[in-house]
Amino acid sequence: MRIVRTIHEIEYARSQWSGPVGLVPTMGYLHEGHLSLFQTARAENTTVVASIFVNPTQFGPNEDLERYPRNLERDLHMLEAAGVDMVFTPTASEMYPPGFTTYVEPQGSLVEQGEGASRPNHFRGVATVVLKLFQLIQPQRAYFGQKDAQQIAVITRMVRDLNLPVKLRVRPTVREADGLAMSSRNSYLDPATRAAAPILYQALQAGRQAFEAQPTSNPAAVMQAMAEIVAQEPQAHLDYAEVRDAETFLPLERLQAPRSSCSPSAWDQCA
Ligand code: AMP
Repeated sequence: MRIVRTIHEIEYARSQWSGPVGLVPTMGYLHEGHLSLFQTARAENTTVVASIFVNPTQFGPNEDLERYPRNLERDLHMLEAAGVDMVFTPTASEMYPPGFTTYVEPQGSLVEQGEGASRPNHFRGVATVVLKLFQLIQPQRAYFGQKDAQQIAVITRMVRDLNLPVKLRVRPTVREADGLAMSSRNSYLDPATRAAAPILYQALQAGRQAFEAQPTSNPAAVMQAMAEIVAQEPQAHLDYAEVRDAETFLPLERLQAPRSSCSPSAWDQCA
């Protein structure tokens, strides 16, 4: 496995690849959720490239950029074991040199709510770094986790809007035994908070049950079912529990099946 830190090295490596290339962008501190992306990429491509980059432009001024968990040595072992061919792990100044000016700015309903409401420039940073990685590595396929549903919608829209020649592949959320979605940030949780955290999964399941009980119902019943479960946990403070269209993130008047078998809510059915 090659470890590459500069854009110059990536450009040289790229000229030597033949066959399809799969890219898995990450911020490192890898876990089994990331591993499922590497495994799928390995099965589908000749060359698999992972990036490890804690992207400063997607963090707000009061967010956790400095303390975001990092362990490159452990990550490299995991990547090697997963059969990844190349790891791109640039510095911030390699990706954003002095004078950097040009950003991708997603706009409208897709980024004005959900994560975008509490993190104003988050999706601008995500779209910018993902476009830069697509340009540098020029993959045929790129792999993302369903856990970050709004991120998928933003990147799907960017690929469509900018006619990018890459196919997005989305993998289901990998969870701990008690249902908590695996996340690098779970390392922040103290034992009491960690014990309370699966309430989020329980709320999602309650939302699903409310939907299945009355599949044509108003989404309000599903949102209420989720909010009621979170309210039972004194340590939990709910930012939002909403039902949204998976592509536009607009509110839904009625619950409905995905528009097509390749919509973001049915990603795994996409060929
Ligand atoms: P991150 O390193 O947190 O930026 O995540 C890198 C990629 O891994 C993103 O596409 C995430 O959606 C995906 N990912 C993170 N956690 C999980 C998980 N528990 N299951 C599946 N994919 C995940």
